[in-house]
Amino acid sequence: MSITSDLAIYWRFAWQLRKFLGQPLDLGQCQRIILQRLTDRDKMLLAAFQAIYDNLSSPYLQLLRLAGCEYGDLERTVLSDGIEATLGKLRDAGVYLSYEEFKRGKEVVRGSQRFRFKERDFDNPLPARHLGAASGASRSIGTRTIYDFEFLIANCTVCEVVTLDAFNCLGLPLGLWANIVPGVGPVLVLTYTKAGKIPVRWFSPVEKRAIKPALKHLLGTNYIVNVGRLLGAKLPAPEYVPLNEAWRVTQWMAEEIRRYGGCCLETYTSLAVRVCQAAKEKGLDLNGARFITVGEPLTPAKRKEIEVTGAAACPSYGFMEAGIVAAGCCNPASVDDTHIFKDSFAVIPHRREVLHSGINVDAFLFTTLLPSAPKLLLNVESGDYGVVTTRSCDCKLGKLGLTDHISGIFGFDKLTGSGMTFVTSDLVRILEEVLPVSFGGSATDYQIIEEEDEVGRTRLSLLVSPEVGPVNEGEIVETFLAELSKGTPGKRMMTNLWSQAKMLRVKRMHPIATAMGKLLPMHIIKDK
Ligand SMILES: [Zn+2]
Repeated sequence: MSITSDLAIYWRFAWQLRKFLGQPLDLGQCQRIILQRLTDRDKMLLAAFQAIYDNLSSPYLQLLRLAGCEYGDLERTVLSDGIEATLGKLRDAGVYLSYEEFKRGKEVVRGSQRFRFKERDFDNPLPARHLGAASGASRSIGTRTIYDFEFLIANCTVCEVVTLDAFNCLGLPLGLWANIVPGVGPVLVLTYTKAGKIPVRWFSPVEKRAIKPALKHLLGTNYIVNVGRLLGAKLPAPEYVPLNEAWRVTQWMAEEIRRYGGCCLETYTSLAVRVCQAAKEKGLDLNGARFITVGEPLTPAKRKEIEVTGAAACPSYGFMEAGIVAAGCCNPASVDDTHIFKDSFAVIPHRREVLHSGINVDAFLFTTLLPSAPKLLLNVESGDYGVVTTRSCDCKLGKLGLTDHISGIFGFDKLTGSGMTFVTSDLVRILEEVLPVSFGGSATDYQIIEEEDEVGRTRLSLLVSPEVGPVNEGEIVETFLAELSKGTPGKRMMTNLWSQAKMLRVKRMHPIATAMGKLLPMHIIKDK
């Protein structure tokens, strides 16, 4: 992108930020928006279908035509059978995209037809007010998914406000421990500011130096903060707090709890665990603390580490291409039970085999209903699997009519830790090519396993077969991380956090075979 077009984006951004900050949205408005959208759900999906049929280059149009579906057929089925049943029929007719087809450009084969789509083919053609400066990449492997202000309000602000209310956090001081641009921090700052809930502190676990951002990214964070301040919003500037200084965040929370009786922090799940472990080490009281956890699953061990301090955890689930998809239930049926924002999304399961593993999982297929969604998704996998259920619940989110839940959420084709996600293809090259060349052995002598240690921290073990002979374990870890950080500022940001978290440790043992007897570079799937 040229400097001129960057400047145009910044100028447009400043202009729109003024409008955005002008009218804060309160809880009542957010609740009414959700209720209205629940009433209009059928209409919203039909409008999304119409947009697909109006766009001759839409990837979905090709799949729908192949399945013999015209708009009139879909309209009749939605109105008679409902949304999820219609989407199920479409899935069975081949109208869906796997994670590999959506994110990796894998060839789409349906019957005798073959297609290949690019990620930008899924961009929503409707919103014309895109904001480069507000984009993030913490969960999307360095791709740029660009939000506009309309979506920021319709999805992020509305969902975050009702979530804070459900967890009795609306009246409490709010803090963030989230990455600067190209991470998700600026999006969160703006999201909450729109609700009149300006974060009191914004801690960033990485510093600019480690990311070596492009000029526009470097400008991005400062620009958002400074323009916001010029327009009268007291936006916090990011303060660098590395992972091994989690106690600084803990100290701030303990202080706020003493003054206000409670405090809320939104951060990556592993970082929430670190804050709680620091509380135990320093003898600080976190009774009254609430954590909105994002970016990685809230496992039983992680929830326990948080709750043992007297704090509460609310898992929030989303991914960059969709926005916020689900938020934690206050009467959870399982450890990561979350309410789907079904006013904006439909989710159905898709039984599929994880490539070359012989293991079947129920992958989530997402469909976007909001007209401002950055990407149009129609039965698209996010790379996660779990359980989709419908039940009534008397927590505040249940009472709003959000009756669909997802839980038991895990990624099937990516590694996640400290809120950072790498797809397996980034890792396979290192395991199968770089390490054997540098340290000896063959492609099957190295394997990564995702585990949780005794205190709920996600750890990656790099198995190095004894056949490789004597190796310097520190050098292997260094080589692995150095290779992983090559490329975009987003990758450097993610690798920096993995390095800080000492995520990777070497184990001298033979790689583990799957139930089918295969040796894969990654052994991360829990057998179901
Ligand atoms: Zn609930």
